[in-house]
Amino acid sequence: MNQPLNFKQELTCVFGQPVAENPTQCMMEAAYNACGLDWRYLTIEVAPENLAQAVGGLRAMGFRGANLTIPHKVEVIQYLDGISDAAAMMGAVNCIVRKDDQLLGENTDGKGFVQSLKEVTDPAGKKIVMFGAGGAARAIGVETALAGAAEITIVNRSTERGEALAQLLQEKTNVPTTFTKWDGDYTLADDVDVVINATSIGLFPDVDAVFPLDFASLKSNMIVSDVIPNPPETHLLREAAKAGCTTLDGLGMLVNQGVIGFQLWTGVDPDPQVMRAALEEVFGVK
Ligand code: NDP
Repeated sequence: MNQPLNFKQELTCVFGQPVAENPTQCMMEAAYNACGLDWRYLTIEVAPENLAQAVGGLRAMGFRGANLTIPHKVEVIQYLDGISDAAAMMGAVNCIVRKDDQLLGENTDGKGFVQSLKEVTDPAGKKIVMFGAGGAARAIGVETALAGAAEITIVNRSTERGEALAQLLQEKTNVPTTFTKWDGDYTLADDVDVVINATSIGLFPDVDAVFPLDFASLKSNMIVSDVIPNPPETHLLREAAKAGCTTLDGLGMLVNQGVIGFQLWTGVDPDPQVMRAALEEVFGVK
């Protein structure tokens, strides 16, 4: 993965993660190789005060696109030529796509989640309980609402963020959305179809984190999904599997947002299995 660049290669990148072995870079470069594309995906650390110059650099050097991680997803919008309707609703961009001389912003996180969910069920008409109200929750909330969810309950520790997300979904998508403050173990109603953890509970290194849920309220017909990619098996998913629920791990969302970015940049369909295998290798799964 660390071959030197050559001048004929098409370039894409992620801004903002100061880690030696970026999982997304490994996943994207494995997919480029498998498709026979002589493209590279670079990890470039950018300090917040240098974001404008970094986006200028993308333009100047003809990058085909980029991903953005925290803290750049909101700030980057002012430097782009346009953003998609869904990214505007979320107020965040995690993917830049160059079209001719324009840099356009998309948000592929929520779309990646919905794609992953659609592998087991269609979100249309489903009652959803989602834990969390941060960036991932906003993206997932908007896309599941746009995909036709019947009802969404936002459960969050802080009232301010939880209420703001419930209001955003209610106003912008018209899907009935309510907020419940997360105080102690949450009990799921019997008619919930899909349960989503969109918080950072369980993310490495906090791998033994206990998920505050009354696990006796899980029913075997529920689909339980977690955004945590590392480690992909969380406390919530272990308990859900014990209760007989269908489970979806955070690698599915990560792979599918990568698939969408790959298609937007290259116009080619990558192999999701190759991408998942690359992530599993980085995270030491299997
Ligand atoms: P944010 O910091 O924006 O939001 C974090 C959320 O988690 C908030 O709702 C926060 O609640 C909640 N939270 C954190 N700790 C606790 C706790 N101990 N108890 C209860 N609630 C808690 O982060 P993001 O939304 O950007 O990311 C969330 C997770 O999603 C991360 O772990 C990230 O790795 C993952 N992610 C996965 C992706 C994938 O492709 N699989 C893509 C994007 C993100 P409060 O408002 O009260 O602080």
